[in-house]
Amino acid sequence: MTPDDCIFCKIVAGELPATIVDEDERTITFMDINPAVRGHVLVIPRAHSRNLFDVLEEDLAACATASQRIARRMREAFGAEGANILSAAESVAWQTVFHFHIHVIPRNHDDPLKLPWIPAAGDMDEIKAAGAELSRG
Ligand code: AMP
Ligand code: ZN
Repeated sequence: MTPDDCIFCKIVAGELPATIVDEDERTITFMDINPAVRGHVLVIPRAHSRNLFDVLEEDLAACATASQRIARRMREAFGAEGANILSAAESVAWQTVFHFHIHVIPRNHDDPLKLPWIPAAGDMDEIKAAGAELSRG
């Protein structure tokens, strides 16, 4: 299903402008219009899905491969020293556009981005308890 009001479906359909930098049968990659840093892109499946919870396995795999392709190109084209990938699922996780996408963000030592949380040692019993709830069998 393609929701009428999905802006990324409109980009796929060519009804909204985008600076497309890569495409294949299942994916397109275009520049984010509110970049975290210069070169920030979004990789999306052509087919609509809301987010990580419902994206087709084949589209997820194709987006992962496209993310690797563009991250490698960021290294070649800009000399990016590294990259972050991020995908938000639902508003609680900061999703604002409800068509699955992966942010690919080139990283350099002198860029202004910071980790969104402060890493601190966790309680091992609690970590194992959460792990037990998540593991199958
Ligand atoms: P998220 O908040 O993780 O759902 O990411 C949505 C991203 O889409 C944001 O980083 C926006 O800047 C970006 N965005 C929204 N509209 C457009 C558009 N028309 N073209 C390119 N990027 C967009
Ligand atoms: Zn869509």
